[in-house]
Amino acid sequence: MATQLRKPYVTPYAEDNLDLPPAFEWADGSRQLTYHDALPQKWMFGALWAHCGTARKGKIQWHLVHTLRQRRCMLKQRCRVCGEPATDPDTGRVPWIMPSEPAGGLRSTMTTAHPPTCKAHIGEALATCPHLRREPPVVCTVGDSFPIAVLANVYGEDDGGRLVETAHQVPIGLDEFHLLGRVLATQLIVCVEDLRPEPLTAGLNLLLP
Ligand SMILES: [Zn+2]
Repeated sequence: MATQLRKPYVTPYAEDNLDLPPAFEWADGSRQLTYHDALPQKWMFGALWAHCGTARKGKIQWHLVHTLRQRRCMLKQRCRVCGEPATDPDTGRVPWIMPSEPAGGLRSTMTTAHPPTCKAHIGEALATCPHLRREPPVVCTVGDSFPIAVLANVYGEDDGGRLVETAHQVPIGLDEFHLLGRVLATQLIVCVEDLRPEPLTAGLNLLLP
């Protein structure tokens, strides 16, 4: 049935996956993770970002997240489904689906790697995004958001100088400068502020499945 559903903006396709292994090189007196002939835009917040294509061709990979499109959604508060600005023009607030209620409950300020969802696509996101279907999600709005960390794989070198992954998909704060040069970032984590759970009848234009 998945082929009949819209392809969410943040979901990658098979041909977006480019197998480009990173390597260490010396830069500014320390070891820095890089790609061969990497352009400066491969780094953001001091971290090297996973290389991926933008062709949107091949089999859709429902359980993965496209690194560059996820980062764009988080930086610019764009919708995970359509890629357009998610801010509700009527309220100035950004609809945001939290994948589950954390232990201890929702807090006004939280961190998340899940992009926002424009109010027109909340129902579609709940129906199609596997990441939002594992636990009962909570529909919220937020006042603002800002980058605070990356989700990344951390690399080191063994005694023979070979690249080894020392941690997989862990959050690394944007102020952990001693680590950022050794990570391959795959998703941007933001801090959302003034988060409020929104009852499903609170004016959100839901298209529930
Ligand atoms: Zn949308």
